Amino acid sequence: MDSVGTSYRGRLAPSPTGYLHLGHARTFWWAAERVRQANGTLVLRDDDLDVQRARPAFAQAQIDDLRWFGLDWSEGPDVGGPFGPYRQSQRRSLYAAAFSQLREGGWVYPCRCTRRDIQAAVSAPHASDDEPIYPGTCRPQRIDGNQPEPSGSNWRFRVPDGEDCSFDDGALGTVSLVAGRDFGDFIVWRQDGVPSYQLACIVDDTAMAMTEVVRGADLLISTARQRLLARALGWTPPAYFHCPLWCDADGVRLAKRADAMSLRSLRQTGWSPEQLRARPEFDHFFPSSRT
Ligand code: GLU
Repeated sequence: MDSVGTSYRGRLAPSPTGYLHLGHARTFWWAAERVRQANGTLVLRDDDLDVQRARPAFAQAQIDDLRWFGLDWSEGPDVGGPFGPYRQSQRRSLYAAAFSQLREGGWVYPCRCTRRDIQAAVSAPHASDDEPIYPGTCRPQRIDGNQPEPSGSNWRFRVPDGEDCSFDDGALGTVSLVAGRDFGDFIVWRQDGVPSYQLACIVDDTAMAMTEVVRGADLLISTARQRLLARALGWTPPAYFHCPLWCDADGVRLAKRADAMSLRSLRQTGWSPEQLRARPEFDHFFPSSRT
């Protein structure tokens, strides 16, 4: 991967499961702004592992909508034209290698619990969609590092119960989370051979040498999970910067009424990117002292 400017590296990582809305645009705008301030490199990654929900038409719409909104990225695989996104669906061997390392290191165990939990694991769990704490039904007393190949089972990462997983966030300051209390053992690999969002995300953020991940505050618990995975894999996690969520007057997260606020519909109803960025919600949270 070529690198320009300083060593700061950031990413935009949408999932092609629908149209981007203004909440995404705001988070991505700040991701790009952090890169701009540091004269770093911005990467676009298409998180398209969720084959049930991902659609190529949404992946193309994301690119068009991001460009319309004024966002651009300066690195990607060579596709003989403008920088293409990195696509997770083309990076499966990296996830499989990391999973083997976790299995051999005795960090994960096979789990035969409900289909519903397992299906959800491939998408990023946003705030209220996050999973309940796993009751430990399939958790063994001791994990044997010499476990068989992954086929036929889903696999969970065993979290260190009671451990303080706090981290220092670039936007929010200290975020306090405790393993086993705020989140439990989570899925890293499904029996159909699909890695979970948590595993694919930390593998890519590390392989792409991200120095900071800018994402919505609904992913705070995912960040704690991904930091544990990084530690188990012997990697240094990136820094994190969580943008507070954009809620409407009733406190409802924007995603819930995303259709009306999709960049597509806003554009069709005559909004310009400049007008959207001038909306007060766009920057009121940004801690300008922390650059
Ligand atoms: N693609 C995921 C999402 O859209 C991941 C975001 C992230 O890890 O920052 O929610």
